[in-house]
Amino acid sequence: MKRRQFVGAGLALAATWPLRGFAAVLKSVGDLPAKTLAGGDIVLRGSSIEALAASLRGEVLLAGSEGYDRTRRVWNALFDKKPALIARCTGAADVQQAVNFARQHQLLTAVRAGGHSLSGKSSCDGGLMIDLQPMQGVRVEPETRRAYLESGSLLGQLDHECAAFRLATTAGTVSHTGAAGLTLGGGLGRLGRRFGLACDNAVSFDIVTADGRFLRANDKENPDLYWGLRGGGGNFGVVTSIEYQLHDMDPVIFGGTVVWPLDQARDVLRYYRDIAADAPEVANLAPDLHWEPDGPVIAIEVCWSGDHAKGEAWLKKLRAFGKPKRDEIAPMPYVTMQSGGDEILGPGKYYHLKGGFLTQLKDDGIDLIVDAFKRMPNWYLLFFDHGGGAYRRMAPAATAYPNRDTLCMIGTIGIWPNKDGIEENTAKMRANWKELAPLTKGFYTNLADSDVTMAGYRENYGANFERLVALKAKYDPQNLFRLNANVPPKIG
Ligand SMILES: Cc1cc2nc3c(=O)[nH]c(=O)nc-3n(C[C@H](O)[C@H](O)[C@H](O)COP(=O)(O)OP(=O)(O)OC[C@H]3O[C@@H](n4cnc5c(N)ncnc54)[C@H](O)[C@@H]3O)c2cc1C
Repeated sequence: MKRRQFVGAGLALAATWPLRGFAAVLKSVGDLPAKTLAGGDIVLRGSSIEALAASLRGEVLLAGSEGYDRTRRVWNALFDKKPALIARCTGAADVQQAVNFARQHQLLTAVRAGGHSLSGKSSCDGGLMIDLQPMQGVRVEPETRRAYLESGSLLGQLDHECAAFRLATTAGTVSHTGAAGLTLGGGLGRLGRRFGLACDNAVSFDIVTADGRFLRANDKENPDLYWGLRGGGGNFGVVTSIEYQLHDMDPVIFGGTVVWPLDQARDVLRYYRDIAADAPEVANLAPDLHWEPDGPVIAIEVCWSGDHAKGEAWLKKLRAFGKPKRDEIAPMPYVTMQSGGDEILGPGKYYHLKGGFLTQLKDDGIDLIVDAFKRMPNWYLLFFDHGGGAYRRMAPAATAYPNRDTLCMIGTIGIWPNKDGIEENTAKMRANWKELAPLTKGFYTNLADSDVTMAGYRENYGANFERLVALKAKYDPQNLFRLNANVPPKIG
């Protein structure tokens, strides 16, 4: 029998692990102040926390428990929240217990997969964090071209397992992002123009809904829920696993970055605009404006996932355009490209991000973008995600995800190592985005922050909004799952 010390609610708590390493049984947990869904104060009885802990295969962490601080922290250090308790779930059975506990106590509830919510929604102050990180595993079935992913898994784990079988599906562009959060909100990535959104490739979800039921959602079982889970975010329950369809793909792509000094930015962006809409679907072109040690630059990152010789021919003009400072395009493993941004966008820094979709890019818009970049300091980055291609293949009403018909997405991001000057810097970011926002039409709900109102979500989801509200009323009438891009169970 293992014995561990827990410290929680100001008390030193002795915890024992029964044989076979099953549920951590907390002894003598004190009563714990917590926050309700409505924002009120309650006291959780120690005995009910003990009962929760006994019902889980994973652990319950309280303030002071070993691992509590490590687990409560999310990617964006700006959000330093302290849940009253954390349920570290090891599978759907644990998730059911945690959801039932949250509902019975009407507890403020956050669900955490990869922890990359830009607005820190996967943690909370004083509530319950349902932590899915212990649920990491990806199994690829090459014969059926399917991947089965546990919902705490990261994108790098999905890409890695798929590449071994010369298979792939759309994932995001930074390998430590959570696959579940990304997929539930849509999922844009380097293969998206070829294979569609990550959610377009999700053929089935396992989910625990607010009433604690375990359901499967696909085109045959609970198809209404399946529709909503593809773009409707974490509104309907805790997804415990996702089945993806995979595609044949050479694990070595042809790609890299071409970099030009900033004084060529207007011309490069015009050239990009002219080729982006009709580019082959195997081409993903992602410009960004950023600072290098010797000055500001514009770069275009290329991921050509098709035949290399054809890519070399098609990219000739782009690589010869203007006077590049560097050209790093070469064959490289797809998984290498997928982790190229991992460090610069690493966890534990302070971030502020704004973004929106462009359906067109006119010359005066390009001028505005370049001028807006020039006025910002070297902690600022402006990036584009390539749209069109297979993103457009599905009708906007076919899934909950609304922003299908786009040329690209534009985003701005501020990155700081610490809190110094954070208020002034975020104010600068907001003012900068105010200049750029008029160019955009709609936004990506996975990047939404607390500035977005319900009216904003309604406008962005368009005709899909009312259907999402009806689904919310059916599956989560009390809005237990509200720490997300939230759809209310009723309007008004
Ligand atoms: C560095 C970085 C790079 C990014 N790159 C891309 C990109 O290339 N393409 C792209 O499309 N997006 C990208 N994003 C945005 C990303 O899609 C969202 O931040 C996404 O929500 C992250 O998912 P997560 O599981 O890591 O986050 P979490 O913070 O764990 O969750 C995000 C939201 O989803 C909910 N949620 C998560 N898992 C579940 C679940 N299993 N069941 C129910 N609800 C759940 C959470 O409650 C929360 O509201 C990026 C974000 C970051 C920080």
